[in-house]
Amino acid sequence: MRIPIVAANWKMHKTVPEARAYLERLIGLAGRDPGVEVVVFPSFTALPAAAALLEGVPVGLGAQDAHPEPAGAYTGAVSVAQVADLGVRYVLCGHSERRKLFGEDDALVGRKVRAALEYGLAPILCVGEALEERRAGRAWEAVDRQLDRGLGPVEGDPDGLVIAYEPVWAIGTGVAAQPADAQEMADRIRRWLRERFGAVGDAIRVQYGGSVKPDNAREFLSLPDVDGALVGGASLDPDAFWAIVQSARR
Ligand code: PEP
Repeated sequence: MRIPIVAANWKMHKTVPEARAYLERLIGLAGRDPGVEVVVFPSFTALPAAAALLEGVPVGLGAQDAHPEPAGAYTGAVSVAQVADLGVRYVLCGHSERRKLFGEDDALVGRKVRAALEYGLAPILCVGEALEERRAGRAWEAVDRQLDRGLGPVEGDPDGLVIAYEPVWAIGTGVAAQPADAQEMADRIRRWLRERFGAVGDAIRVQYGGSVKPDNAREFLSLPDVDGALVGGASLDPDAFWAIVQSARR
């Protein structure tokens, strides 16, 4: 059985004191095991404070991005090795905002996935079609390509890998996918994972992301092939995020 994973992607929000206040509230709410894996993705600046606060608490920590090279002349970048050092467990790889706003291509995303695995971190590989691709009936073609190239460099079993299916047009727009479309895509992703990784593919969790809110979360989190959610805007408030986490309880 796959334990659902619900993750809060704060994007470029929250100072360190704001991150602390949020996490103190979340820790209060997360006192008992919700039967759901809960992960927060603060900005790099708040990771050390978050790691200290979350010690011994059933809330995991992730980095929103990481450079695949361990060290080097990459001004402004933070490496997988550096975030691993902070007690981070997950790394987002290929979020659509990184692809669109920072020009990341599938090859770079694949290197990030591989580097994360090499450092014992669990990559969350984000895939999803653009609106034009969906309208043209080419949504699966886009996702298939991102899976192929994002996971191409992986050798052996991808320990801890999670796939986040996030249609680009649903991110931050308030317009979520139709649950039936999310289920269809999650099912195709699962079949792809089984073909690529055999039985291990069955254990890999597939999240849905894109305008998930407390009032629509259950529609997605009760789908048979959706094993959690990656939440942006609605995760910025700990109570709203916790309401989404509760919707994932099975
Ligand atoms: C995201 O950033 O991954 C995301 C899904 O954002 P939102 O929930 O705001 O659409």
